[in-house]
Amino acid sequence: RTVYLNGAFLPENEAHLSIFDRGFLFGDGIYEVTAVLDGKLIDSALHMARLERSVGEIGGCLPITTDEIVEIEKRLVAENQLTEGVVYLQYTRGAEDRNFFYAEDLPPTLVIFTQTKTLEHVAAVEKGLKVKSMPDQRWARRDIKSVCLLPQVMAKRAAKAEGFDEAWLVENGVVTEGASSTGYIVTRDGRIVTRANSHATLPGCTRLAILDLAREAGLALEERPFSVEEAKTAAEAWLTSASNFIVPITNIDGVAVGDGTPGPMFKRLRALYMENARRTAI
Ligand code: PLP
Repeated sequence: RTVYLNGAFLPENEAHLSIFDRGFLFGDGIYEVTAVLDGKLIDSALHMARLERSVGEIGGCLPITTDEIVEIEKRLVAENQLTEGVVYLQYTRGAEDRNFFYAEDLPPTLVIFTQTKTLEHVAAVEKGLKVKSMPDQRWARRDIKSVCLLPQVMAKRAAKAEGFDEAWLVENGVVTEGASSTGYIVTRDGRIVTRANSHATLPGCTRLAILDLAREAGLALEERPFSVEEAKTAAEAWLTSASNFIVPITNIDGVAVGDGTPGPMFKRLRALYMENARRTAI
């Protein structure tokens, strides 16, 4: 694979980073994951906007424009002949001797690579996913897409050990979001429920696209928190993320959601999302 590192396109085994990189030492960095379908970037503008926002929130500055980043991503996708998968981008504050305080003029690190992954025709779309609820042990600025993912790694590990596919993180009696996804339920009277954006969750790019499509289709939407108990008795549940698009959840903590199969609202939005994703891909 060809990867991008600080201005250079390199074979992956020639791309080297300093052991003093603040991303490594402090988790002082931001990342983005963008899906690729048919060799094109999905929801790219949304990911670039969130990247700029996250970097700004930590007082950083991207070394190049987001237009330039998109051109680099397209070049990597083409050179690596990626038809389906993801582009991963990581920005860090840069490298210098370990010190909490940093030089304001420190050149940041920017790494971009591609990864092959089947995204569209996956078993989860037909079978649904099983999620396990557990306490949300993350920090208080989850709207920043920070590379500090230890709580998510631990939550997913615990979920997987018990045969679940994803963790739903719970705080103050309500679901914040999945460990790496946005959570939704559909009430028995057909209303889509997902949390409003705040510091408590990552503002999902896929969420933004899905909610726009739901509104255009005239579906009833409620942006509010929901509990695990409400989710267990809901008609449907789903998750969204860049690398899953929208996938049904058919089981929460061992309890079947609805009739235990992917629901009609999910199927409708999955079709709308896939059509829109392809139409707006670049
Ligand atoms: N919430 C968290 C904690 C995530 O890590 C992710 C994606 O990685 C999402 C939500 C979904 O965001 P997006 O749809 O932009 O991938």
